[in-house]
Amino acid sequence: MQKASRPRDHEKHAKEIMLKKFCNTLPDSPPSQAPVSREEAEDAVRVLLRYLGEDIARPGLRDTPGRVVRAWEEWCAGYGEDPADTLDTTFEDMTRYDQPVILRGIDFISHCEHHMAAMPGKAHVAYWPDAKVVGISKLARTVDVFARRLQSQENLTCEIAEAIDRNLKPRGVAVVLSAAHGCMTTRGASKPESLLVTRHFTGCFKSDLQLQEQIFAALTGR
Ligand SMILES: [Zn+2]
Repeated sequence: MQKASRPRDHEKHAKEIMLKKFCNTLPDSPPSQAPVSREEAEDAVRVLLRYLGEDIARPGLRDTPGRVVRAWEEWCAGYGEDPADTLDTTFEDMTRYDQPVILRGIDFISHCEHHMAAMPGKAHVAYWPDAKVVGISKLARTVDVFARRLQSQENLTCEIAEAIDRNLKPRGVAVVLSAAHGCMTTRGASKPESLLVTRHFTGCFKSDLQLQEQIFAALTGR
């Protein structure tokens, strides 16, 4: 025979229900932005492996979730970086130089935000200094800050150019990217040789179309 519950148990249960209802009315952080632990991220990889029909207990896959999460932390390390920190060391004693600074062939690996597929490419960056000149390695670092995120190539191009424009306040910036998209070269349309070329100009390179064509030719070696 079931033991009759005591009045105190009823009271406790009622309080729990009330607390639960109250909590449900609180403005929670949106589920899409709630922090995720390393364990939860690894569990998500296990779910994907199972979805693909894999046996997650087999020896070859035992450490795969941890490796996948660590690899993605590296591929997306740009989220934790601010381009203002990268571009804050400038040289202001190069007033005799009055031509664009051009850095071609900066290798980068980004990942497309639509498929999370690899997007390896080359960035070609130019800026025409006004007062501030930056070390060339900082230009390459700026490319990485934005490339190491989930991206569309179009936005990536603009973000690199605008960060240089904002921090160095030059006469103009020109950025050209060419990249292969894993989502198109290895699947879907399966066009392994295709390259997407995007360009973004600010300042003098935007307003002066002749200058724009000249810098584009210099950046792409045409
Ligand atoms: Zn894609």
